[in-house]
Amino acid sequence: MAEQPAMKKLEAHCARCSGIRSCIVEAEVKKSKEIEDTVYYEDWQILKCEGCKYTFLLKSSYNNWTSRPVTDWQGEVEWTFDKEQKYWPPISKRKRPEWLIKRKLDTEDNHRLYEALTETYTAIDSDLHMLAGIGIRTSFEITSTLIGIEARNFGQILNELITKDLIKAADKDRLGALVNAGNASAHRGWTPDHKDLNILCEILEHFIHDAILGPMRRAELDEHARAINARVPPKPKGA
Ligand SMILES: [Zn+2]
Repeated sequence: MAEQPAMKKLEAHCARCSGIRSCIVEAEVKKSKEIEDTVYYEDWQILKCEGCKYTFLLKSSYNNWTSRPVTDWQGEVEWTFDKEQKYWPPISKRKRPEWLIKRKLDTEDNHRLYEALTETYTAIDSDLHMLAGIGIRTSFEITSTLIGIEARNFGQILNELITKDLIKAADKDRLGALVNAGNASAHRGWTPDHKDLNILCEILEHFIHDAILGPMRRAELDEHARAINARVPPKPKGA
C-alpha cells in the first residue's frame, strides 16, 4: 500500500485558542508574479488548529527582498520571509465582554443594542476604526433610549441622564468624549487609533453595565432572594 504523504503543518494564530498553535494545512493555493526585479508571493491556506479543530483562512504576502537567514536549534540555516498575514475570520482586536459572549443582551427588548455592539466589535476586528467610532456612539444612543431617555440630541441626552439620576455629573465628561469622538468620525472623517478605540469601548462597556446589565442582574438576584426567603423556616414564636 502506498505510504500516505506527511501532513503539512505550520504555526499560526488560532482565534479560538487565542494563541499560536500548530495547525494542519487542509488546502493551499500559492501565487506569484514578477514585476521588474521583485517577485511578489501570495499564499492562501485553509488551516485547522490541532488543539481545538477550529478552521480558518490565512493569507500570507511577501516578496523576495524580505528573505533572511534563520538558524534553527540544530544549527541548520534556513531562509525565511517576513510575511504580512491576514486571517479570516479576523483575529479579535478587542476581547468582547463576557456578557456579550454569553448573549445577555440578545433579548427582545435589547436586541437592537446587541446587534449594534456585534457590528461595532466586528468593525474593530476588521480595522474599520472610523465605522467603529460611529458604532460606539450609536450603541451609547440606543442604550440611553432603552433606559427611558427621550432626548434626541447628544448634548441633551447627557443632560437628561444626569437629571434622571442615571449618571453622576462627574460621568458627563467621560461619556462626552465618546460622543465627541463618534461625531468627529461621522461628520469629519476622524479615524481614532486602536488605543483610542479601546478606551472608548471600555467607557461604553461600563455605561452599558451600569445602565442595563447591573439592574438586570439585581432583578435576577431579587427573584432568587425571594425563593430563598420562602424556603427559610420561620423564626419560632416567642424565640
Ligand atoms: Zn485552537
